[in-house]
Amino acid sequence: MKRKCMILALCLILAACSSQPGSNSSAGVTTVSGGGAGEAAESAGETETSKTVDPSQIPSANADIFAMDTYMTVTCYGKRAEEAVAAAQAEIERLDDLLSIGKADSEISRINRDGSGVMSEDTNTMVTEALRLYDTTGGAFDITVYPLMDLWGFTTGKFAVPDAQELSALLAQCGSDKLTVNGDTIMLAEGQGIDLGGIAKGYTSGHLMEIFEEYDLVGAVVSLGGNVQCYRTKTDGSLWRCGIQDPQDPENGSAYLGVVSVADRAVITSGAYERYFVDEATGKTYHHILDPKTGYPAESGLLSVTVVSTDGMLADGLSTSCYVMGLEQSAEYWRNYGADFDLILMDENGEVYVTEPLSGQFTSDYKVHVISQEGIS
Ligand code: ADP
Ligand code: MG
Repeated sequence: MKRKCMILALCLILAACSSQPGSNSSAGVTTVSGGGAGEAAESAGETETSKTVDPSQIPSANADIFAMDTYMTVTCYGKRAEEAVAAAQAEIERLDDLLSIGKADSEISRINRDGSGVMSEDTNTMVTEALRLYDTTGGAFDITVYPLMDLWGFTTGKFAVPDAQELSALLAQCGSDKLTVNGDTIMLAEGQGIDLGGIAKGYTSGHLMEIFEEYDLVGAVVSLGGNVQCYRTKTDGSLWRCGIQDPQDPENGSAYLGVVSVADRAVITSGAYERYFVDEATGKTYHHILDPKTGYPAESGLLSVTVVSTDGMLADGLSTSCYVMGLEQSAEYWRNYGADFDLILMDENGEVYVTEPLSGQFTSDYKVHVISQEGIS
């Protein structure tokens, strides 16, 4: 079978806001200018807050890192920017070693191999949140999809459309309701394995924000495989502007479905175009977000889900969940639980949806519908 697997950055920081030396535009964040992206950036506008320092005098540091099977960028602004970047890099590497299903000696690999084990505080926090999401999303978010991810070849790169019987046999063993957590000990059911890939990068970016508190930074931004989290504001006091990759034109890095302006927020996107393979026999594309009810890649009618929240772990878990749940269920979920997050969705008709509280911070060239408590307009 001819295989193709794409990994794309989903969310880009638009840094074309300042021409001052030493400011954000010169500091190695993904800079997008010109064409549609430039227009999107300009139309996003900027909210000025108080300027207490000359942005041109603020030192910056950045690092490009490959971890968690993706490309990451960390950029910090402040006198201790270099120390902060080094601390962030060390933390990313520590968590990668702990969580990677590709590393035989990681904690997750050990638990999957043994069927049970003692969890570190990091793993316990993620598993606890994953189980809460499993319950509240009606099983759309389910870390026990690991054996299915493996069967499809997403863990090994040996992609294959599974035999239907084999798939349904594995599916019968899945379900986060079948695993047990008792204090810091996890016990998997027969045949189960866990995969924290739907939540780990958001947990990591959230954790980096806590680390940044120790370094007296003016601002910082991390992009973990296109999942962005911003610390404070840009050096000139304005909001960070995140361009969300247009899923209808995924190979054009400067095509956006819209731009969202934020401070102190995670902006985390799930999309089918991130990781997929094409089955040569049928020409059909299979992507990496599985519907735990069927064992097949989710087909909910959504092409892209962005979750904006102060909580990176929640944003990551929910971006995957809402991708599985689809528009109506995601809107309902937001109405029930949305105090801590907002959504930006694109459906397969190219229509864009944003939850009401975020609508003033979001611009798009597409037709934008607003999701409110009352309905969708
Ligand atoms: P990415 O991590 O590629 O940015 P997501 O956050 O949407 O994208 O996570 C996708 C990953 O989540 C998959 O690679 C897999 O590890 C895991 N996953 C896939 N389907 C589910 C699901 N229904 N529930 C929980 N995790 C999932
Ligand atoms: Mg996710």
